[in-house]
Amino acid sequence: MKLALVDGKRRKAQPNLSGECQCCGSPMIAKCGENRMWHWAHKSKRKCDPWWEETEWHRAWKNRFPEDWQEIVQFAESGEKHIADVKTEDGWVIEFQHSAIKTEERVSREAFYKRLVWVIDGKRRKFDERKFREAWEDAGRPFGPETPLRALSFYEGRLLDEWVGRPTHVLLDFGEEDWLWWLIPRGDQSSDFVLRIHRAGFIQCLGPVADRGGQSLEKIIEVVASQIKRRDIMHKIEQSIRDKQRIKYDPLAIRRPPRRRM
Ligand SMILES: [Zn+2]
Repeated sequence: MKLALVDGKRRKAQPNLSGECQCCGSPMIAKCGENRMWHWAHKSKRKCDPWWEETEWHRAWKNRFPEDWQEIVQFAESGEKHIADVKTEDGWVIEFQHSAIKTEERVSREAFYKRLVWVIDGKRRKFDERKFREAWEDAGRPFGPETPLRALSFYEGRLLDEWVGRPTHVLLDFGEEDWLWWLIPRGDQSSDFVLRIHRAGFIQCLGPVADRGGQSLEKIIEVVASQIKRRDIMHKIEQSIRDKQRIKYDPLAIRRPPRRRM
């Protein structure tokens, strides 16, 4: 972890410092070596947050947000507690996920954190990025040829199998400087959608309100939802026109041969 309690205050690891875990309260020691980023580790192996993981990728992401928002212990009414990677001032929890995660754990985290945004490390497995690019190229462009919002038509690969169709927001990070790929939560829309979004824009719209320039995650969600809704209405109208035409003019419809008079 990046932070632990030292005399009741959240502190970063420093050589020779000892502290206690924000989550489970057990003693922690500061690991300040040359090879790994400085961090806190539990002194003895014990059960803390089973969801916890931290890599350099996590650390870099967390550092894009104010330190007060990083590693925030969250409690459920049942007494269950977990450390959110980042919690924004308007209550979004951002979880950075590098390792493989089982479906049950994904579902329980989505239930535990009510307003959840996943950011997924898309560079971990070899073929995930290629499969994603293929799906993006194949995706329908119902909003115009240059649209950053596309409808997934056909896709394969483990990354998309795991993350398309979640009820929460999922952003895929392939380590590009400019872009993140946002899998829009599945609601009652007709397809699964992907939005290409500027990395800096995404960070800004979840960042401190004062730095947002009027932008917010909610606003983007609203715009996307209304575009999808309009498209779905058009889609239904077109479909019903096609259906009617098919009934009238279908050349393959079975026609009875005229009866001959005996
Ligand atoms: Zn702990």
